[in-house]
Amino acid sequence: MAFLKPDLYYSSVRAIDLETLARAGVRVLLLDLDNTVLPRDSNVVPDEMRAWAAGLRERGFSVCLVSNNWHERVRDIAAELGFDLVDHAIKPLPFAFLRALRLEKATAKEAAVVGDQLFTDILGGNMLGMRTVLVAPLSQTDLPHTLLLRRLEALVLGERVPTS
Ligand SMILES: [Mg+2]
Repeated sequence: MAFLKPDLYYSSVRAIDLETLARAGVRVLLLDLDNTVLPRDSNVVPDEMRAWAAGLRERGFSVCLVSNNWHERVRDIAAELGFDLVDHAIKPLPFAFLRALRLEKATAKEAAVVGDQLFTDILGGNMLGMRTVLVAPLSQTDLPHTLLLRRLEALVLGERVPTS
């Protein structure tokens, strides 16, 4: 169960307290895409997300999108936001996260995984000893198996509510 618990839980990526992460020695974000940065059914990067990405760079964070997705869309969005990319990730398996750490020349202690799913993002990050940040999903649209897992997520999270 401990591997499924996020260190931090926010209502959205834009609510993440970057100072808290920086003080904890985090300088790299391994960021999920679908329902974390954009709704799964959207290709349009909203202005506020562009501003958030620019703010990350200003604060000196490196960002790598780590996505189980593999469509052209993922590459376009990474390029648009100025993020590095590891796709075909097969999270929660560790390989893509390890590839992203190598890409960013970072240790696990210097990285935080940010995503909307306990069984992919948070589990994978915790297994490698990274900080883990859960965000509430941007939309209720998701893959059928993900929607099933959401029920288990609700059990794991219990009364825990995201910080706004
Ligand atoms: Mg996701």
